[in-house]
Amino acid sequence: MNVVITGGAGFIGSHLAEALLAGGDTVTAIDDLSTGSLKNLEHLRPNPNFDLVVESITNEGVLDHVVSSADAIYHLAAAVGVRLIVERPVRTIETNILGTDAVLKAAARYGTRVFIASSSEVYGKSERMPFAEDADMVLGPTTHSRWCYSCSKAIDEFLALAYHRQRGLPVVIGRLFNTVGPRQTGQYGMVVPRFVEQALAGEPITVYGDGEQARCFCHVRDVIPAVAALTSEPKAEGGIFNIGSTDCITINALAERVKTVTASRSEIVHIPYAQAYEAGFEDMRVRVPDISRVTSLIGFRVTRDIGQIIQDVARYFKSAKQ
Ligand code: UDP
Repeated sequence: MNVVITGGAGFIGSHLAEALLAGGDTVTAIDDLSTGSLKNLEHLRPNPNFDLVVESITNEGVLDHVVSSADAIYHLAAAVGVRLIVERPVRTIETNILGTDAVLKAAARYGTRVFIASSSEVYGKSERMPFAEDADMVLGPTTHSRWCYSCSKAIDEFLALAYHRQRGLPVVIGRLFNTVGPRQTGQYGMVVPRFVEQALAGEPITVYGDGEQARCFCHVRDVIPAVAALTSEPKAEGGIFNIGSTDCITINALAERVKTVTASRSEIVHIPYAQAYEAGFEDMRVRVPDISRVTSLIGFRVTRDIGQIIQDVARYFKSAKQ
């Protein structure tokens, strides 16, 4: 198959490109390199079945050209990281909504299958665990920038489902929960790469809030097969699927675990949310996916635990330094 990956130079996009190429697909990655990195794709560049187009997906002519010969589109290009979202809300809203609009318009011209990467942020601050795909969204006020990410991803989903219902476009929506692994950067606030880098450098490990908030981290290499399987599964069309681990850990416990796995002597410090992000910042206490839908449709399985994730991330940072 000929596939297009938007956001192909990003953390998840580059792993997806690698897996699809290994499976025999021809891959065109399109990325404006705003948060993605050429370094993530270096090892794929010599592959004759791989092509990289450095351009924004909102360039209609370029997008149309790459989509015209594609059998499927994986739409991963999006604003990334809570910190960046809080700091640059205009860019977040425009990137997510205008980008998805452009991709769906192009896909509709050719009837191309589209995977839309959505996010567990769509559930907002709901406290009804685990999150099932048809649960209500519970969002905070528009005065708090964090919620613009949630809202923009929800609009992306609405738009994709609208194209499916109204125009019969084959779309599949995946809601990714705290996906982590090698190549993820801590630059935009993600906790696992930040803690591992801090631990390796012997710097303080910065836990935000009281650290008793919990997350379920899933290794990107467990997420990728699910994304590929859902996209080629006809029964997934028009559906929304949570993808993630159900194994939760508090951020305090994560900090301890990172210290142990990396044999670090870093101290663990606590920083108030208002200082880390912005005044009035609202965080989720816990976030757990209900994965029964994806499990029963494609046999999704999580095979790597948090210890293995930390080890892989630490190995990546150590080798990147050499
Ligand atoms: N976090 C932290 N220290 C950091 C970065 C993040 O304690 O240096 C916390 C963050 O406040 C959140 C959790 O770790 O409670 C996960 O953050 P991340 O941005 O990785 O993902 P989120 O679940 O917020 O999308």
